[in-house]
Amino acid sequence: MKKILADRASKVDASGIRKVFALAASLKDPVNFSIGQPDFDIPEELKQVAIDAIKIGKNSYSQTAGDTEFNKKISKLVTQQFGWKSPSTIVTSGVSGALLLAFMALVNPGDEIIIPDPYFVMYKHLVNMLGGKCVFVDSYPDFKLPVQKIADAITDKTKFIMLNSPCNPTGQVYSVEEIKALAKIAAQKDIIVISDEIYEKFCYDGPCPSIANYYKKTLLMNGFSKAYAMTGWRLGYVASDECLQPVIEAMTKLQQYTFVCAPTPFQHAAMAAMDYDVTDHIKAYTRKRDLLYDGLKDKFEINKPQGAFYAFVKAPGSNATEFVKKAIENNILVIPGGVFSEKDTHFRISFATTDEKIIKGTEILNSMA
Ligand code: PMP
Repeated sequence: MKKILADRASKVDASGIRKVFALAASLKDPVNFSIGQPDFDIPEELKQVAIDAIKIGKNSYSQTAGDTEFNKKISKLVTQQFGWKSPSTIVTSGVSGALLLAFMALVNPGDEIIIPDPYFVMYKHLVNMLGGKCVFVDSYPDFKLPVQKIADAITDKTKFIMLNSPCNPTGQVYSVEEIKALAKIAAQKDIIVISDEIYEKFCYDGPCPSIANYYKKTLLMNGFSKAYAMTGWRLGYVASDECLQPVIEAMTKLQQYTFVCAPTPFQHAAMAAMDYDVTDHIKAYTRKRDLLYDGLKDKFEINKPQGAFYAFVKAPGSNATEFVKKAIENNILVIPGGVFSEKDTHFRISFATTDEKIIKGTEILNSMA
């Protein structure tokens, strides 16, 4: 089999997460702290918008860049938020689709991409697949944005800096000061920043500052999977100031020959979602964050997550893979940090589950500490 596969297929390694799921397959009703999607369902009225769109026949291809009204709505939003006068936009098949198109449009073999570590796992694999080089910048132990280390890592080959706030897997939200400092460095060196803000709504201690407010060469990515639980509907978007219009145009060209367009009926539901208030869900997730953090802080080294629905916790003995094996023996599923990092000292907890499971899970983990 090996001979028929292209080299790039071997550059992707999914074994970390697969191992966890293989070990977990035999568990009955485990405390599942491994899930990367909300535990609520899509709001009924948004489901209805999709059903209506299907029934009235909005089932064919949309424009490559997405429904015209939807793009106008995204443009209006980013103009209000960031003051971009003539923004460029594209609707994508989730933020995953946005990442693939953007990386395909930007990464040449040998290009260096700066990525704070820990990171969302897809960034690394996409860069590797395209023959680029990941330059990881360590953000342990507090997971704040390592601005000086990023500045030191910039070379002539740096193509862009990858930012993800609120962050998967750390739950960190970067402060205005950190973001402004990074914007200054990126501007000095004239380097694009890709800002993945898919967890923007899950921000518990104040608003989530966006680098798009401070830096024009930001490729902003956002999506509907998390805030509206639309993970299976595959909707996201990318927006930029007009100075990055060539990047969005290149992504649109690539979309034409890959995804063609994002799923049409669900584009209508996502457009409606932009007016849907998720405050109640965020309140519930603030409570879940507190339950988890208060439950673990006495026995574990844990930074209080400020956003997303993850905590990145130091494993006793600093060997995450060993700890995760033991956790599974105790009927609890967490992901070893090595999946999201060049280190394997921490484990990721997703608190996107019921309060009861969070309470039970913290009890089990404390008994293992
Ligand atoms: N970015 C981050 C940081 C994520 O955690 C995820 C989903 N786990 C994605 C992007 C991709 O989300 P989607 O493709 O469903 O929009």
